[in-house]
Amino acid sequence: MAAPTESIKVTLGFVEKVEKCRLSRKYFPSKVGGKPAWLSIKDIPNSDRLKCPKCGKVCIFLIQVYCPVVTLERCFHRTLFIFVCKAPSCHSQDTAAFVVLRSQLPRANEFYDYEPPDEDNPVDEAEGLVVGLCAVCGCHAGNKCSKCQVRYCSREHQKVDWKAGHKASCGVKGSTGNGDNNILFPEFELVTEPEDYDQLDEEENGTTEHQETKETTEVDDELDVEELEKMAMAESQDDRQFAKFKKRIQHEPDQVIRYERGGQPLLISREKRPQKSQIPPCGNCGSVRQFEFQVTPQLLIHLGVDSLENSIDWGTLIVYTCTKSCDEGAPYKPEFLWKQDIVDTSM
Ligand SMILES: [Zn+2]
Ligand SMILES: [Zn+2]
Ligand SMILES: [Zn+2]
Ligand SMILES: [Zn+2]
Repeated sequence: MAAPTESIKVTLGFVEKVEKCRLSRKYFPSKVGGKPAWLSIKDIPNSDRLKCPKCGKVCIFLIQVYCPVVTLERCFHRTLFIFVCKAPSCHSQDTAAFVVLRSQLPRANEFYDYEPPDEDNPVDEAEGLVVGLCAVCGCHAGNKCSKCQVRYCSREHQKVDWKAGHKASCGVKGSTGNGDNNILFPEFELVTEPEDYDQLDEEENGTTEHQETKETTEVDDELDVEELEKMAMAESQDDRQFAKFKKRIQHEPDQVIRYERGGQPLLISREKRPQKSQIPPCGNCGSVRQFEFQVTPQLLIHLGVDSLENSIDWGTLIVYTCTKSCDEGAPYKPEFLWKQDIVDTSM
């Protein structure tokens, strides 16, 4: 992702169908779905590190954003990854079943050429065979099929693959595991462009918004008038925040991410705003974390999750990362995600 210049603050990301080979890790892609295109090849996360904090199942790759920090040599290459639990029950309001990881490398490193790759001649590499990845989800695979060379991160994924077709293809020469199942999300490239949005327009409209007359709500005599006024105020403020969110998104309705390292997230609601004290410091170096990017609800449309009540859902996913983008610790460092849901004020 290109670093935004001074005047352009937010960079937007959009999904695009592209040849699979262009999403190989050697092109440092930003992408959605499929298997992760790991950056560091050392210490690739295993199923333990990708465990859902709620139910313990292996989280599945959702999105990765290639976002070097130009001022830091240690971040010449840098990618943020989000993994999500696919169990619908882990996605009720107030729970966040995600794992966020950060990986970074200097320009001179043991895995990639110093010079940029030749984008005109993409080569498809059998990634799974190169570094021993799970045939199902693409994370580090500690287990092997007892009868052939296909590898899995967990018993859970070995079972999934057996049912998905490995039962028939096991031992067949050249078989790399079935892997083709409903576990992975549809794969897209994530392409970016600066947000072209006139802040002044918004402010002008903002004043008119404030002057709008509030809808009158029916008053229940049983309740304290003051309480009701407070509730109505909170509700209308929340509606206003949601309207602001929608308006800004509708300017570029297909955006699936908003990137602004060190900037401010666009909140979908005034409820459950991430307070400073609720964002834990970096687990490696202890520095405070800052906003880096957010995922909009538009991404859900591309994921093929069903839109019924009981499925993966979010208002917006806000990712906070170490302000220093420190180098200490393991090659894949945990970062922090805050999920904001749309508050239902119609009740
Ligand atoms: Zn879960
Ligand atoms: Zn797996
Ligand atoms: Zn086998
Ligand atoms: Zn840190």
